[in-house]
Amino acid sequence: MSRIVMKFGGTSVADLDRIRNVAARVKRECDAGNEVAVVVSAMAGVTNQLVAWCQGLSALHDAREYDTVVATGEQVTTGLLSIALQEIGVESRSWQGWQIPIRTDNAHGKARIVDIDGTELIRRMQFGQVAVVSGFQGIGSDNRITTLGRGGSDTSAVALAAALKAERCDIYTDVDGIYTTDPRIVPQARKLAHISYEEMLELASVGAKVLQTRSVELAMNERVRVQVLSSFADVPGTLVVDEDEIVEKENVSGIAYSREDAKMTLRRVPDRPGIAAAVFGALAQHNVNVDMIVQNVSADGMTDMTFTVSKTDLARAQVTLAEARSQIGFSEVLSDPNVAKISVVGVGMRSHAGVANTMFRALADKAINIQVISTSEIKVSVLVAAEYTELAVRALHTAYGLDGA
Ligand code: ADP
Ligand code: ASP
Ligand code: MG
Repeated sequence: MSRIVMKFGGTSVADLDRIRNVAARVKRECDAGNEVAVVVSAMAGVTNQLVAWCQGLSALHDAREYDTVVATGEQVTTGLLSIALQEIGVESRSWQGWQIPIRTDNAHGKARIVDIDGTELIRRMQFGQVAVVSGFQGIGSDNRITTLGRGGSDTSAVALAAALKAERCDIYTDVDGIYTTDPRIVPQARKLAHISYEEMLELASVGAKVLQTRSVELAMNERVRVQVLSSFADVPGTLVVDEDEIVEKENVSGIAYSREDAKMTLRRVPDRPGIAAAVFGALAQHNVNVDMIVQNVSADGMTDMTFTVSKTDLARAQVTLAEARSQIGFSEVLSDPNVAKISVVGVGMRSHAGVANTMFRALADKAINIQVISTSEIKVSVLVAAEYTELAVRALHTAYGLDGA
């Protein structure tokens, strides 16, 4: 007998038939003698609608009220799944983040879990009750509802698995595993039997939304066995494991893209010490994360500075920079939301040269212009015009020999 956490994403609970399908899967695990906790997302599309309502009222809305609104989607699904389970004779109850409680910090909209008290859940699971837990949400030390950032139910599931000392955390979704790239845009993408925590962490952080970045980080630190598999088909999924469990190390194991960033350029910034600190200090103070950065030196002591921020932070970044303009002394700010970041990831890059060059050559052959480049030990990212996203990902998938049969 094992204790397991099963997580179901939005498309897996999109309507009543799918919720019945989830209930049947949960029952199968119970019938096999396992203690089960289930984490659910909101029904497909619901969180987007809730976010749009907040934005419709104010681009710079109160993050605490945003959390109050967007956390409601998951509450509906926990109640519905619990009813569906009871209908097929499985004892269960729903749990909201504040009821467990799942304690988080107070960074509303992107809170981090600090503690989960699993005592009562474990007690009830031991006599056969299934815990159906709302993903994505928790409660801050201010006693207000928090949410964990988009895709946060993955993190709820991994954190719960760690708190309950579960044997596995199974992430059920609408694809049957982790692929070399998003199978929805590259049909030749190959399913991986295993992927290392490090590679999955890097892929998630550059846009492969099959797992939320924080969930992979937590799984790695807490040694949680994570498996990604299909809600709809009974086929083997992908296991996220330690690097040394993988025998064949590819130079590049995956390609990811993100359309979630916007490019900002400060024109004619004085090229002197302290300018980067002034620009990025002001943005950090207003909770705007900056990702890629480039700066050129020009002859007359003035420079252009280009960087990317999340599209959701763009309005705040524009206001912040406008306020700091006289102190920093640039001539204008340009914003371009029509960009995509394309990244290639692989632990083999540590020991192989030429990986970045293959990328630049493949993009050049398709006449795709590179706007910004950034690298880390196991990743190379480039920023290109958004219209080239699919073309770039497909070209790179082929260039690195990742295409399946
Ligand atoms: P859920 O609602 O179940 O959490 P998500 O939409 O958040 O599902 O994540 C699953 C999606 O992730 C897939 O439908 C797929 O389009 C996308 N995806 C992106 N990169 C990958 C990848 N490398 N492997 C598998 N899926 C990927
Ligand atoms: N419902 C939330 C979202 O759409 C959390 C999740 O699905 O993981 O982002
Ligand atoms: Mg998700």
